[in-house]
Amino acid sequence: MKQVIFAITLLLTLGMFAYTVNRLAGFFRLTRKAFPVRDFGKRFKVMTDVAFGQTKIFRRPVIGLVHALVFWGFCVILLGSIEMVIDGLSGSERALSVLGGFYDILMATGDVFALIVALAIIVFLSRRLFFHIRRFEGIEMKRSTHIDANIALSMILLLMISLLGMNTFYVAGKAIEGETIKGVFPVSNLFAGWLINNSGVSVHVLHEVCWWTHILLIFVFANMLPYSKHFHVFMSVPNVFLSRLDPLGKLPNMDSITREVKLMLNPDTAYAAPAVEAPVERFGVKDVEDVTWKNYLDSLSCTQCGRCTSVCPANITGKLLSPRKIIMDIRARMNEKGPGMVKNGRGFTDNRSLLRDYITEEELWACTTCNACAMECPININHPTIIVDMRRYLVMEEASAPGEIKTVFSNIENNGAPWQFSPDDRLLWAKDLEFKVRE
Ligand code: SF4
Ligand code: SF4
Repeated sequence: MKQVIFAITLLLTLGMFAYTVNRLAGFFRLTRKAFPVRDFGKRFKVMTDVAFGQTKIFRRPVIGLVHALVFWGFCVILLGSIEMVIDGLSGSERALSVLGGFYDILMATGDVFALIVALAIIVFLSRRLFFHIRRFEGIEMKRSTHIDANIALSMILLLMISLLGMNTFYVAGKAIEGETIKGVFPVSNLFAGWLINNSGVSVHVLHEVCWWTHILLIFVFANMLPYSKHFHVFMSVPNVFLSRLDPLGKLPNMDSITREVKLMLNPDTAYAAPAVEAPVERFGVKDVEDVTWKNYLDSLSCTQCGRCTSVCPANITGKLLSPRKIIMDIRARMNEKGPGMVKNGRGFTDNRSLLRDYITEEELWACTTCNACAMECPININHPTIIVDMRRYLVMEEASAPGEIKTVFSNIENNGAPWQFSPDDRLLWAKDLEFKVRE
């Protein structure tokens, strides 16, 4: 009976998850291409350092360590969950114990990490509920955003409590019945010592309650995550693997424009370059269908930690710009417009757009493209590329830019330099020098 109920629950979970994956795949299909994914050796190194090694998180050592422990704990505990699925389907008990010594290490590590993660989550929750952390504030951090984070953290806490409960009642039950304990449970062993005087029956029932609570929480959590900021639990590792590998200051060029510029500078080079096949649909980014798959992946992976905004010189000096908001807005806009586009095609319009209805020109022009945000982001999100792409749209399709920048554009057009002097006058400053300056 238990197996049948478990199989039905698992099928429902997988079905709902498949629906979400299909929905997200539809959204990804609406996006534009980004850089080609190659250099796998480099990518594995970045993923090992930044995702599994959590190197960027450690820039803030104390809270970084707590966060890293949660991440590592999750990885270990996830392996234990696979065993629960096997047990649930086959009716076995601790199916992976056939792995012997490795199983003991896995269980012991998971048991210790369950306690560490539970304590860490209590710290995270307390910080959010009782302390005023500036990083968690901002116009983009709405009440619903905080509620979402608190619900997800509470669920993780319950997951850890139920895991420890399950292990504790398992150890206590086996000790009471004099049976062999499969695996090693340093923390639960301690707790189980307090239960030894209970009858084996109630301990067995409590074990079943914890087992079901834990696995059902995993199923609910897995289906909730894609709609929560905690989706980064799934997405951060692939997002780091697919990081942009170019140096931070290097902006991607637009192929069509590069060709035009080359044509002006050297017609031979331009004709040697591969021709642009299709006419350009849009210069830069106006709405969510103009973003690349990487921009959208970034938005799904963002942890909303605010590290980017906390180092942004524009934000620190009181400007409207918050790089975290830019990334969050992409996800929110896709949730708003994506379903309509999937149903009616890319041409669907709801008379709103990412630009202006979500992100204002004032925010975009406040960016200094210093890359401090991208440098700080623990999952290698690159904010300046999307900001610059939105500016490209403004300039190239709407000829809209702040007055000072328009002056620079006209100077470049007329004088071949950003300054308002004729190229012929460039060396006037040197005319009275005692020595000759080469032109
Ligand atoms: S973009 Fe990166 S640094 Fe900024 S909030 Fe998201 S995860 Fe944190
Ligand atoms: S690149 Fe722009 S958004 Fe990022 S930190 Fe610098 S000013 Fe802020």
